Amino acid sequence: MGKIRIMSESLANLIAAGEVVEGPYSVVRELVDNSLDAGATAINVSIEEGGLRSIRVADDGVGMDRKDAELCLERYATSKIYSPDDLRAIATRGFRGEALAAILAVSDVKIDTWREGDDVSTIVHGARGKILSVGMGARGVTGTTVTVSQLFYNIPARRKDCASPFTEARRVLQVVSAYALAHPHVTFKLVSDGQELLYASRTKSVLERIRQVHGAEFADDLVCLEAERDTVRVIAYMTPLHKAVRRNQRTMLLVNGRSVTTYALRGVLKSVLGSALPDGHSIEAIVFVTLPVSDVDPNVKPDKSEVRFRNNNQVWATVADAAQALLASKASVPVIGGKESLQRTGRDDALVAPAVATTSSRSDALLSQAQEFADDPSATGGRTLLPSSVPGDLFSEFREEPQAARVAIPANPEWVQQIADTFILCPDRDSLLIIDQHSAHERVKYEEFKARYVRERGLERQYLVIPQIFKLSPREMLLVREMIPLLERLGFEVTAAGSNEVWLHSTPFSMSGKRHGDTFLELLALYEEDDARAGDGSERLTAREEKMLQTLACKAAIKSGQRLSEIDMRKLLEALSGIDLAARDVHGRPGMLRLPYSRIGALMERSSISWRL
Ligand code: ADP
Ligand code: MG
Repeated sequence: MGKIRIMSESLANLIAAGEVVEGPYSVVRELVDNSLDAGATAINVSIEEGGLRSIRVADDGVGMDRKDAELCLERYATSKIYSPDDLRAIATRGFRGEALAAILAVSDVKIDTWREGDDVSTIVHGARGKILSVGMGARGVTGTTVTVSQLFYNIPARRKDCASPFTEARRVLQVVSAYALAHPHVTFKLVSDGQELLYASRTKSVLERIRQVHGAEFADDLVCLEAERDTVRVIAYMTPLHKAVRRNQRTMLLVNGRSVTTYALRGVLKSVLGSALPDGHSIEAIVFVTLPVSDVDPNVKPDKSEVRFRNNNQVWATVADAAQALLASKASVPVIGGKESLQRTGRDDALVAPAVATTSSRSDALLSQAQEFADDPSATGGRTLLPSSVPGDLFSEFREEPQAARVAIPANPEWVQQIADTFILCPDRDSLLIIDQHSAHERVKYEEFKARYVRERGLERQYLVIPQIFKLSPREMLLVREMIPLLERLGFEVTAAGSNEVWLHSTPFSMSGKRHGDTFLELLALYEEDDARAGDGSERLTAREEKMLQTLACKAAIKSGQRLSEIDMRKLLEALSGIDLAARDVHGRPGMLRLPYSRIGALMERSSISWRL
């Protein structure tokens, strides 16, 4: 007795319908979905001419009996959804019962499948939307192989819409890579015109899987961060801040194992990390979100590339927590002399040795271009590709993976020392810290100014003994009039002294004496340059407000070349130790470096080193 039933039309109408076959990559997506739903532990994908000539997906899943094999190509034939209730908590990747029928409508399909216990395997062949023949096969292992050839042979216009075989192959690689990341327990292989583009053997470690897909150089830098709110769990692998890039092509969001669009994720990363990074840069993040299947609805788009969360805010807040943790992570402090070894602890090191990282340079190149495609909204109608599901125990091994240690900027270090009148040295538990005094103080000032600006609606002022007078151009006068409320909030009290002169009565507290004029004029210029809307009074600053506060912090901060007393240095470190972003200056550059004692030992070629912790 088979498992597949034809859905009633009323049930079918509840499901997001639409074109699922956009090109070879979407055929691969649907076939791999089916293999995963069938419980496959190994999936081999092979394409010819970018999939335009043929696509073959072979799995070792449960297979189908003869009756199911005949039915599966029918429209609305599915073994996954039987009633509208099932739609409330979709745990499978497929659920429309439409994919194979839709593929059959535009290509030639051959299915060879065997279910354990059956005498023989079944071979079904169809084309032009119809089954042409059903026969017996000699397949001796459970599983299914689906071969799709001559895609769009009957729709020349669609065929023309497809890109070159090379581009289509890149898209397929992107799809298979995403599946591989979402399903480390499954072996994936992708071969294109006889050449292996990806081989990822099953593993228990997500990090190892990332290594297989993106290479060791990328994977070994990643910091693993976790966050949890209620039933939402986030595990994020992020590149450290000092490895930020202009194009974060590997960024990926997997919700219960489905790879979905990353627009919202990129937005969250930007709002949390933006001020810690140079302009236009971003970190790369592979983010796994898990939550109860009933709290997420994948039934939004026919290709399941988007999901809807029942509690959207909570999900993004949890992702933001993880990103926030990156700011405070030790990995945000660049290590002197190369790669951070701290992240890779015992168990993980063991995984490095047998790495099956077979991503060839060719597939790397393909992948990076494929990701450009994924980033290009026009290429997929504004969507990223790919769905899938969470193996129940996906996170079981996360616990053992390395955690980002918090930055321990010692509030009260054993000793402090200034060098070159510019840097402060002090010991941490396991490293020597080298802190840029200006960057550090600027960061402290910025956080202080920002807190007052946002929460107390204004910076503390200091009044000038003698108000300063400024001659301004008519244009500058107009600016000042417009800016008065903002200037007051920033600690500058200004009054008109004549038709083109103003008095400056106060500056922000702790602003050093001589350069008030420059700072004031700089604020006018910033205001004019960046005519963003004024802040909305919320905690989020506009880019312009941020820049102005940064400018003030910079002016208020200790300069390099300034000799500091021990008391000054200790005060600064104490203030810094309470700040998450301590390791970055306000312009997104590193504000400190770390020299681990282990690194010193390694440089001196000592086989072991022990130090007092
Ligand atoms: P859906 O996945 O939405 O149910 P499909 O048209 O993709 O619809 O597949 C129809 C049915 O065919 C599935 O529900 C499943 O029972 C069966 N099927 C398809 N591919 C496989 C496979 N690789 N292994 C086992 N069963 C499969
Ligand atoms: Mg399906």
